[in-house]
Amino acid sequence: MSYTLSSMPSGGAATLEAVSSSPRATSASSIGDASAVVSARLFDRASSVIPGGVNSPVRAFKGVGGTPRFIASAAGCTMTDVDGNNYVDLVCSWGPMILGHAHPAVVEAVREAATGGLSFGAPTEGEIELAEHIVERVEPVERVRLVNSGTEATMSAVRLARGCTGRTKIIKFAGCYHGHVDALLADAGSGVATLGLPTSPGVTGAQAADTIVLPYNDLAAVAAAFDAHPGEIACVITEAAAGNMGAVAPLPGFNAGLRELTANNGALLIMDEVMTGFRVSRSGWYGLEGVAGDLYTFGKVMSGGLPAAAFGGRAEFMNQLAPLGPVYQAGTLSGNPVAVAAGLASLRAADDAVYAALDSNARRLGGLLGEALTAAGVEHQVQFAGNMVSVFFADRPVTDYATAKASQTWRFPAFFHALLDGGVYAPPSAFEAWFVSAALDENAFDRIAAALPAAARAAAAATPEGIRA
Ligand SMILES: *Cc1c(COP(=O)(O)O)cnc(C)c1O
Repeated sequence: MSYTLSSMPSGGAATLEAVSSSPRATSASSIGDASAVVSARLFDRASSVIPGGVNSPVRAFKGVGGTPRFIASAAGCTMTDVDGNNYVDLVCSWGPMILGHAHPAVVEAVREAATGGLSFGAPTEGEIELAEHIVERVEPVERVRLVNSGTEATMSAVRLARGCTGRTKIIKFAGCYHGHVDALLADAGSGVATLGLPTSPGVTGAQAADTIVLPYNDLAAVAAAFDAHPGEIACVITEAAAGNMGAVAPLPGFNAGLRELTANNGALLIMDEVMTGFRVSRSGWYGLEGVAGDLYTFGKVMSGGLPAAAFGGRAEFMNQLAPLGPVYQAGTLSGNPVAVAAGLASLRAADDAVYAALDSNARRLGGLLGEALTAAGVEHQVQFAGNMVSVFFADRPVTDYATAKASQTWRFPAFFHALLDGGVYAPPSAFEAWFVSAALDENAFDRIAAALPAAARAAAAATPEGIRA
């Protein structure tokens, strides 16, 4: 069987593209990484009971090769692996840990909640407080339902949009990741979706055919799709600012244009803020831009690091959900008291000072990245979407998935591994945003600054064949 998984740039997907081209992506035991002896042993053991040794693909280091580090513990801005290596963490669990790891207030809230019982299958006051907190922060959100993952949030929001409009087609953008929902894995790249083929085996042709995939930041394409399918499109779902092909901010007017086109055509606008929500400002991307979606999806930061997510939006739509309305959605562990306590404690601690620190830490990280790569003579773009940062080895700004994929991604594995060797844990993929926490301190920035020159030289020395000197 031959197929490509190149269309899902997060949770691991675009990274899988590099599997065949990275000579380091071999079996764990063949990597003689002295500092990853215990990790390699655990990876081998994991691989015999867990597919690929990991429970989410990007963790397997397939995009960069080498041995995934098994983490023993984390505190503040650093993580320690099972070999005793300590890393400055620039992944932050792919976004959630804006306060840093094991924040005392969050840990205490979890301990207290757990002591009072782990799950009841009946409502609790904490769920109301978390919902109220989200409603207070994001003005277009009038009603919230709690779920367990971002995937569940987007899946439910799309079902609700279809239920409210009575339409089946949806528009998504290439390079935007909305979780591993069948209908949302489709991508127009490589003419695959042009043929209506699923981009992951297991996604049916019908599911893929109902998904129209368009280039990010291309309003004309959205207008043309509405013209071509009058009365058929239930919703447009977009990352409020793209972070899953690397950080690619919407061009000025793009989100506002989506707002107008959806409203004019009777479709709903779903702002996926699973990554940006409560990270890029206290009100997420909405707080930076002020373009209101009809429905919102949240996860990551609002979970405090436990499995929790949410979708919400205008009451007229959200009230179509069971038990008020006919659109069914449910969850045995939804609104779990321990997860709710972690989320609430995190959001309560995320005050203006935290957001100011996130912003300044992101600028500082971006500045250091740019300086080092410039000094090494490597063509690059340091891009920001709010306080999410990315490095693209490209000669011009990346604005969509096509330009992201056209960058010199083969430089990334060498860059990544040199940083890792230098005690800096960056995302193990060229197609991911880097996440700062408010816990990054002077020592952490010293360590980043110390590791970067060698990493930049490694990126400069890299070749398309992927040979790491
Ligand atoms: C991470 C992410 C998701 C999926 O969330 P999970 O909790 O991993 O299921 C959805 N949308 C966006 C924008 C994300 O970044």
